[in-house]
Amino acid sequence: MGDLTEMTVAAPAKINLSLDVRGRRPDGYHELDTVFQSLALHDTVILRPARTGIEVVCDSREIPCGPQNLAYRAAAVGQKIYGVDHGVHIILQKRIPVGAGMGGGSADAAAVLQALPTLWGLPALPEERLHALARELGADVPFCLLGGTARGRGIGDLLEPLPPLTGLEVLLVKPAVCLSTAEVYARLDPARIVHPEMGAIVEAICRRDLLTLGRLAGNVLEAPAREMAPEIEEIKAALRAAGAAVALMTGSGPTVFGLAEEPGWALRVAEGLHKPGWTVIATKT
Ligand code: ATP
Repeated sequence: MGDLTEMTVAAPAKINLSLDVRGRRPDGYHELDTVFQSLALHDTVILRPARTGIEVVCDSREIPCGPQNLAYRAAAVGQKIYGVDHGVHIILQKRIPVGAGMGGGSADAAAVLQALPTLWGLPALPEERLHALARELGADVPFCLLGGTARGRGIGDLLEPLPPLTGLEVLLVKPAVCLSTAEVYARLDPARIVHPEMGAIVEAICRRDLLTLGRLAGNVLEAPAREMAPEIEEIKAALRAAGAAVALMTGSGPTVFGLAEEPGWALRVAEGLHKPGWTVIATKT
């Protein structure tokens, strides 16, 4: 084992600046076309080497700490790939709302996967290998390894980095309800999908043209998610009224984000945006 006694890693949240579902694959996954954006908001993952075994502790009661935890599973994958029985003690300080479409579990898994070799004093894995392991853990994990701004196709794992859209103000609003990703997809009616113009959306992102992005951005999972969480529409309207250039649901929801250029916008709007059950977080890209 290595000499490190502890590593602290930030695991950033993501939002989807647009999300299209292009079809369903024989393996049950959906074919996506999306643009991921990582945020300053992050979980903190603390790793300590242990002689053997995997232990996860977490400051949120909402998530399981055993083998269902994605951080635990990432550590198990690490043990298997390196063929070692080195142990790890993982402390998760959750700040990314759970089941919110912000990829919190995927972010934690990516952080563990990336940190383990250093913690254990082992050589880093080749990038392609790391990417393949990440993909097995979850469709969003490869992006969490990459970070920044990227278009994701395939199941979200075929990534094309874009010029990073840094320093934008982001206001996240999550209504009280948590949505199951599987249920949102189950309610998606392929005949009624209005596909966003991903090519033009990507061009707008590359030009940092928020006005055009605001006009074109779309998430096809919003319609089915709204059936279960009608507040999504109310939040979008509130964010637009508060000056957001873009207001959209992220992932399979129910969190809605607003984007703006004006420094301090997110904090200022957050102060006036309260409703019982809403979680409001001001952050940046
Ligand atoms: P996605 O958008 O990637 O589908 P999400 O952002 O909506 O996911 P997560 O916060 O990743 O949702 O959690 C989804 C589920 O995964 C939760 O029900 C939770 O119990 C489980 N889970 C497992 N490990 C973790 C983890 N480390 N952090 C958060 N949730 C986890």
